[in-house]
Amino acid sequence: MSLQSAVELVNTASEPDTLTSVALLDEFLSRWRYTGRHDRTRAELEEVRELRPRLRELLLAERDEAVTHVNAILAEVTLRPELVRHEEYDWHLHAVDYDDPLAVRIKIETTMAMIDVIRTDEMSRLSVCDDSECDGVVLDLSRNRSRRYCSTTCGNRNAVAAYRARQAD
Ligand SMILES: [Zn+2]
Ligand SMILES: [Zn+2]
Repeated sequence: MSLQSAVELVNTASEPDTLTSVALLDEFLSRWRYTGRHDRTRAELEEVRELRPRLRELLLAERDEAVTHVNAILAEVTLRPELVRHEEYDWHLHAVDYDDPLAVRIKIETTMAMIDVIRTDEMSRLSVCDDSECDGVVLDLSRNRSRRYCSTTCGNRNAVAAYRARQAD
């Protein structure tokens, strides 16, 4: 689970919820080429759904607060760090087993990604969408840090609104 996919997962919880079936979870995982254990059960779906608010808190936390979240999560799981290479991915660190439950792996992998963000003091790359109606999380990986909206839908809606406002002047 990369930071991008974690952000997308968290954003499925925004109204209307878009992670409401096992099939939608399947689709999400295959789009991100997510491997490892995947039970395709209602219980697994519920675990992933319930994880979203917690991940949201972690992603949007201030730096020191994020450390508290990270340490709490790390204390919940027995980690088995291992360097692995699979599919098209070169050597990278897996902190948990392929056979651990999906929600556990997503939680730990997002936490590992956030450890990098904390260490490099890049928390400002994560924010809430600038659209007044949207609470989506924005991950800004652009060089000039120009990203303000969680999606092109939100970006376009605001571009149109700004254009109309200029016309009305
Ligand atoms: Zn991997
Ligand atoms: Zn948005």
